[in-house]
Amino acid sequence: MHELTLNDLKSAIRDVPDFPIKGIVFKDITTLLRDGNLFAEAVDYMYDHFREKEIEVIAGIESRGFIFGTALAYKLNIGFVPIRKPGKLPAEKISEEYELEYGTDQLEIHRDAIKKGQRVLLVDDLLATGGTAQAAARLIEDLDGDLVGIAFLIELSFLNGRKALKDLDLISLIQYDSE
Ligand code: AMP
Repeated sequence: MHELTLNDLKSAIRDVPDFPIKGIVFKDITTLLRDGNLFAEAVDYMYDHFREKEIEVIAGIESRGFIFGTALAYKLNIGFVPIRKPGKLPAEKISEEYELEYGTDQLEIHRDAIKKGQRVLLVDDLLATGGTAQAAARLIEDLDGDLVGIAFLIELSFLNGRKALKDLDLISLIQYDSE
């Protein structure tokens, strides 16, 4: 059914050591995205998992979550709502703070982005510690959305981010057990 395997997808991810700061191995997805077959397959694998889950809207996390989130929303024929960094959304919004390695950051969503009880799928490119996804999940819950699942392209399994997101239908297409 799939022309390419998940290993093919993994082979297309580029490791960039010491970006954006020393000690981080950055998982660069641009080398996957530039190839039409790889990009389409990645979206199709996510689609296969969630197509029967009656998802009503996709929430994507800025900015790489927008890339997979919008493609998947189009494929599922449903809408997309952006979860953005502070100060970007123009209308009435709510915020959630989350911990970074140094300090804190925030994510925001429009107050009217999600209807009460709506079945939501969260999408981002990469799960590391899970702080970002947890903050995004709280935003959806604050709006009384029904968060059904979370889809990531990449999971850094050794950081155990999945633990912080238990009870959700969480998938990742590519896993790394160590840096
Ligand atoms: P976290 O909140 O720790 O799960 O971090 C997830 C967010 O940070 C995602 O939006 C990722 O895009 C980004 N991120 C964290 N670590 C990496 C990494 N090693 N390579 C690329 N992006 C990363």
